Amino acid sequence: MTANRAFVRLDPRRPLVLDTRELGRRAGSMRAVRRTVPAPAGLGLELITVPPGSDLGLDIRLESVMEGVLVSGTVEAEVAGECGRCLDPFTDAVSVAVQELFVYPDSTTDATTEEDEVSRLEGDLLDLEPIVRDAVVLALPMSPLCDPDCLGLCAGCGQRLEELPATHSHEVLDSRWAGLAEKFGGDVLADPSGDSEQSRPTG
Ligand SMILES: [Zn+2]
Ligand SMILES: [Zn+2]
Repeated sequence: MTANRAFVRLDPRRPLVLDTRELGRRAGSMRAVRRTVPAPAGLGLELITVPPGSDLGLDIRLESVMEGVLVSGTVEAEVAGECGRCLDPFTDAVSVAVQELFVYPDSTTDATTEEDEVSRLEGDLLDLEPIVRDAVVLALPMSPLCDPDCLGLCAGCGQRLEELPATHSHEVLDSRWAGLAEKFGGDVLADPSGDSEQSRPTG
């Protein structure tokens, strides 16, 4: 027990809070943690997130070192996103590496660093959530795609390009002339100078 901390703020029932009591504080001891826990809310980015409550697979190693507990391993998460090109919803999975030293509350590191500079154990508990959150967010793409080869949507009609024939096209008016075309019924587009080959007498 740590005499100088009156209470422990971490809730040991939270899925990403790990208890290191079994590990002991003898440098070199090690313990593996393999478990599936429900994902916390708000894990992800705007267009791609880990659904709250979905399976989060932890494959973690806790290692007792001089100053604290070194956590390393991988976290596997399901992700759900919206494709940045075709706007279709899609699901995927990510596997991210995590590594973090949680220092003992009464260690030299604890005494010589600011509150937010390092992760700390609270009693025997450590909170993996901020570490997992950072790692998962870093691993997620800013512009997620349903498929790396997604062709997206036709700019003319909004249909998926993959489902359209290669010859699919629209008569696209140059935007600079589009306003004039509406006004003059389109003739102005064919020949803005009014001096085309077709209008000249040929014989
Ligand atoms: Zn797509
Ligand atoms: Zn189209």
